[in-house]
Amino acid sequence: MIGSVAVVGASLAGTGTARALRELGFDGRVTLIGAEPHRPYDRPPLSKDLLAGKVTAADIALDEDLDVEWRLGRRAVSLVPGDRAVRLDDGSDVRADAVVVATGARARSIPAPRGVHVLRTLEDARRLAAVLLPGARLVVVGGGFIGCEVAATGRGLGVEVTIVEAGPAVLAPLGPAVAGRLLRTHREHGVRVVCGAPVSAITPHAVVLGDGTELPADVVLVAVGAVPETDWLRGSGVALAADGGVAADRYCRTTVPSVFTAGDVATAEFPCGPARVEHWTNAVDQAQVAAAALLGSPGPAVGDRPPYFWSDQYGSRLQLAGRPGPGDTFRVVEGELDGESFAGVYEDETRVTAVAALDRPRAFGALRRRLRQL
Ligand SMILES: Cc1cc2nc3c(=O)[nH]c(=O)nc-3n(C[C@H](O)[C@H](O)[C@H](O)COP(=O)(O)OP(=O)(O)OC[C@H]3O[C@@H](n4cnc5c(N)ncnc54)[C@H](O)[C@@H]3O)c2cc1C
Repeated sequence: MIGSVAVVGASLAGTGTARALRELGFDGRVTLIGAEPHRPYDRPPLSKDLLAGKVTAADIALDEDLDVEWRLGRRAVSLVPGDRAVRLDDGSDVRADAVVVATGARARSIPAPRGVHVLRTLEDARRLAAVLLPGARLVVVGGGFIGCEVAATGRGLGVEVTIVEAGPAVLAPLGPAVAGRLLRTHREHGVRVVCGAPVSAITPHAVVLGDGTELPADVVLVAVGAVPETDWLRGSGVALAADGGVAADRYCRTTVPSVFTAGDVATAEFPCGPARVEHWTNAVDQAQVAAAALLGSPGPAVGDRPPYFWSDQYGSRLQLAGRPGPGDTFRVVEGELDGESFAGVYEDETRVTAVAALDRPRAFGALRRRLRQL
């Protein structure tokens, strides 16, 4: 019988789990432990409207009225499942019958001088916003979603932007057709994009590429992915997956009884195999899965819905559901790839693997429903 739950990580997956526990009728004690000092907030606007100054921190707050005991500004430093205790950085213990690991991820860093930016937290976004001034030269290291979104926001603020990507293409998971379309959009907006260009050094005033090219920079953002926050689990017996995330089954159960996981930190078992998915909707979905599994209630399983994410760049919204494979082809079914908007499907030899759209939400919704039925 579960009478108390400690949720570690007070962000999207953590608050979602706490809310789901209450919705499922759990009336025991829920303690929500969060390393950040503020109430939970939504991260997607950090690279978009918050960075652009269009919304404030108050606008991006997540649920304020959860029925939980808050332990904010406190970091979990260890987990002792035998004692059913989460040890905090002030030396206190939170005891609970079940624990949910929802500690997300931190921005991956590379060797760089002080002053180089990353973007994961509200503080990161505020620091970056303060220096994205008209005419400033921004070099974004990493052509993934966060890097490309900041590039787009930067252009809107009158910043000169260069994206440097070590791989052959920006936004590689989208495949050559869709990624190529977005690359053209960046270039049309005046962003210099350099691909196949590993960075050899970052100096206080430049980013130096492997071939010796120096890109002068007033501001450098390193956006090269995220690392799951699992250090505090060392010695707990909770197994990690090969990719560093917390290994979990289709019900978000870790290898230790009564310890569950959800969100960016979790490498859960999807129908197609284990995966760590760093997208908003995944954190929301896995919170539901973990809460139901914890209470032993019938509930959803990981991957019941195909993965979904969106990305906003230059006022346009890209949406994608499913899992495009590296060799899949993208077939446009509405609009035109180089037009203002389009919707289409990714296909391998036998089936549709994913659907995507740019500024075609209705067509996307219809395609996504079909994907669900596959
Ligand atoms: C800039 C940015 C833009 C994004 N834009 C999009 C988008 O457009 N579309 C999309 O689908 N997804 C987007 N995402 C991804 C989405 O925000 C994440 O998938 C989501 O935040 C994951 O939630 P989470 O709760 O699992 O992890 P996190 O949001 O990382 O939260 C984990 C929390 O745990 C805390 N924590 C860590 N370690 C400890 C510890 N030891 N003790 C206590 N607390 C701890 C952290 O401080 C943090 O508050 C974006 C992410 C970022 C950073």
